[in-house]
Amino acid sequence: VSDGLLSDLRRLLGAQAVASNTADYIRDSTEMQGLRGHADAVVLPDTVAQVQKLVGWCCDQRITMVPRGGGTGFAGGAVPDGGVVVCLDRLNRVRSLEPELWRMNVDAGVTTGRVQQLARENGLYYPPDPGAAEQSQIGGNIACNAGGPHSFKYGVTRDWITGVEAVVAGGDLIQAGGAMRKDVAAYDLRSLFAGSEGTLGIITGAWLRLIPAPDVQMPVVAAYPDRPAGVSAIRRVFGSGLRSATLEYLDAGALAAAGATFPGGLPERAAFLVIAEADGTQAEADSLASELDEALTPDANYVHVVRSIGDQRELWRWRSGISFAVRAQRGGKMSEDIVVPVDRLEEALELGERAGAAFGLATCSWGHAGDGNLHATFLIDPASANEVSRAAQAADELFRGAIALGGSVSGEHGLGLVKRHQLARQLTAPELRLQFLIKKSFDPDNLFNPHKKLPEPQN
Ligand SMILES: Cc1cc2nc3c(=O)[nH]c(=O)nc-3n(C[C@H](O)[C@H](O)[C@H](O)COP(=O)(O)OP(=O)(O)OC[C@H]3O[C@@H](n4cnc5c(N)ncnc54)[C@H](O)[C@@H]3O)c2cc1C
Repeated sequence: VSDGLLSDLRRLLGAQAVASNTADYIRDSTEMQGLRGHADAVVLPDTVAQVQKLVGWCCDQRITMVPRGGGTGFAGGAVPDGGVVVCLDRLNRVRSLEPELWRMNVDAGVTTGRVQQLARENGLYYPPDPGAAEQSQIGGNIACNAGGPHSFKYGVTRDWITGVEAVVAGGDLIQAGGAMRKDVAAYDLRSLFAGSEGTLGIITGAWLRLIPAPDVQMPVVAAYPDRPAGVSAIRRVFGSGLRSATLEYLDAGALAAAGATFPGGLPERAAFLVIAEADGTQAEADSLASELDEALTPDANYVHVVRSIGDQRELWRWRSGISFAVRAQRGGKMSEDIVVPVDRLEEALELGERAGAAFGLATCSWGHAGDGNLHATFLIDPASANEVSRAAQAADELFRGAIALGGSVSGEHGLGLVKRHQLARQLTAPELRLQFLIKKSFDPDNLFNPHKKLPEPQN
């Protein structure tokens, strides 16, 4: 850490806005693959004006900036390679909440969980539900365009923001969209910020769209003796035209890691699990739950409509612990988030298993089946450089297969640091050129989260 830089930043923003220790701000969820960065300084601005001042100064001095939300990302996007980490923790005010207009305006550092809770307390619903909601922030969710189980019916973060406020090159504050629910006057910068991974500017605030909360959210869980039976059940839900709110799956490996703590217990021969959910009024949910029950029943060895609120909570708590249960198997994991057209789901599931076997690694997989979005996972000991390297090779094989199936290397985590080189494989040269032009038009000096998301330009 450069002392000169720290005292410049203290002078600029005040001592309180400059962290004395960088250790907590140089990693994210990729730490379980052994990834850690280093930072020259960490700042925690608590007003938008401070962010503007900082960005203006960093741009003048040609100092790179790494925006950081809750640090829960799975792609190393918030892991710095030097420069100033701009942590949004203290920019965490709810600017307005207007339940009668179904909308909320928040600072970027407000956590996802707080938005969900405020919506709920006012009879409303904010559907995006990425798994680390207590730590992740709205700014980070927008920057990753985060999804979650309920994306199947309700869409991803981008579908719930009507406006993004951001500080861009030079320290200028811009608004992309706002409180209005429609806007086609300009190119859609709001959507560009969704999934921008901190490479276009620093998101400082967002207008969020809410909807009246469903009275009831009733999961229907089904277990199958093998994968083909489970995948057929998923296809039957689609084919029957049932508007399930979620369509999640866990394969045999994920059940081996987490099945023992499944609320109420699972049948012994459960090798594939599906979690659908009926929502709406009580009558609507009851009727949809029984239709889901019927669609999921053929070949199932367990089908259960989860009716009590306590059991529903327990089920989703269990579901959000899958990642940790899997990690506990060997101490570390490399979890990917490939996405394929939903009709290629079974082939994509096989891909992960084959890639792991080819490199001698145990695998498992779970995720958002309805969206064709798989957390194909390789289990590793993070202290073993050999295992980490084999997992990286297996992941490379997985990405190649996902692209060949007409899919993408990332459905919701983004490319960050760890997967950025994959984009050159997925896009054609003209497509890639447009991506570089977008980056350049926002960030001509490459100061916002450099070496993330996009591969190194070839010329
Ligand atoms: C247990 C667990 C479960 C998860 N489940 C899901 C899931 O179901 N779906 C899903 O999509 N993700 C999931 N994730 C991944 C992660 O929670 C999401 O990617 C989340 O959106 C990251 O938000 P964050 O605030 O932690 O961002 P960070 O990790 O801090 O940053 C992520 C990226 O966003 C950028 N960024 C952060 N804040 C800003 C800002 N204000 N302005 C500009 N750029 C910014 C960073 O530079 C970085 O590139 C899960 C993670 C964990 C640990």
